[in-house]
Amino acid sequence: MKEFELIDLIKKWFAFNKGHENLILPIGDDCSVIIPPKGFWEVTTVDSLVEGNHFSLRYFSPSEIGQKTLRVNLSDLASMGARGPYFAWLVLAIPKSVTDRTLKGILGGIRRDCKRFGVTLAGGNITSSNEFQIHLTLTGWVKPRQALTRSGARAGDAVFVTGTIGASTLAYRQFKEGKTPDSRLLKRWANPMPKLAIGRFLAERKIASACSDVSDGIFQDMRHITEQSGVGAELWWDDLPIFPYLKKMNPTPSMIGFGEDYELLFTVPPKKVSLLAPINKEITRIGTITKNGFKVVDKSGKKVEVDNIGYIHIA
Ligand code: ADP
Ligand code: MG
Repeated sequence: MKEFELIDLIKKWFAFNKGHENLILPIGDDCSVIIPPKGFWEVTTVDSLVEGNHFSLRYFSPSEIGQKTLRVNLSDLASMGARGPYFAWLVLAIPKSVTDRTLKGILGGIRRDCKRFGVTLAGGNITSSNEFQIHLTLTGWVKPRQALTRSGARAGDAVFVTGTIGASTLAYRQFKEGKTPDSRLLKRWANPMPKLAIGRFLAERKIASACSDVSDGIFQDMRHITEQSGVGAELWWDDLPIFPYLKKMNPTPSMIGFGEDYELLFTVPPKKVSLLAPINKEITRIGTITKNGFKVVDKSGKKVEVDNIGYIHIA
């Protein structure tokens, strides 16, 4: 497909955009024009998916690649507690080897999830490239001062995480070792589910003191929160909600802590912990914020080594 054919296809497939009351100028002009919803602040993120690092044309279906593109960005917005309407800008850097069928599959996945999550594709760009890369910018909205940041954790706060962690780490490692990733782990790596409702709940009810999504690994993302909040943390190894199938393998920290879990990691002041009742089934308490230092301990109080575990984007 030539560039303009592809843009025409995108215009057509994403035309359900057009009537959106906040989108004054949709795909087709030099820029998009958006009216912000009154009384809200804009929350913006951009994330990149690079073939071989974040997806595999061999092991992901094209539709999964498209869906993952949108979902990793939605996960960032979830971690801020942002709500819709969500607007997206899509950049495709495409090698010659990528077939039209694959491209259409990817766009189909993006389209499906745009409908599912209420995202409007407002524009983008297309370029040829040696490496297959997909970049997406996404915006959402918060009430003034309601964005959940990484910097609000205080000593004594309880630490929680949503869902389960670890499956993506092992799938990725198997892939990088040239093995076929185990199908149960692969499914989790290819199909993250952004925790938008929980993020909004935590933000709008002013429950969480800090929040981040788990994209670089639970230990590293915890460190992001402690460093930016100027506090420490103690995590409880035996309480980490490790993906059940992986848990049976008795995993070491490096088997679960590399990232791409796309869960929410958040802290809650002791007084507010009872407010979590409505989401109790979806979260696990995994530790406590301390004054300083970061450590992971097992049930017997013994230290579990987690130094240098986590995703480093440029090493
Ligand atoms: P320009 O040359 O002004 O950058 P383009 O020819 O690249 O414009 O794009 C034409 C229109 O198509 C623009 O509105 C742009 O936002 C949209 N567009 C291009 N690529 C994409 C894409 N991958 N996804 C969504 N919209 C796109
Ligand atoms: Mg352009």
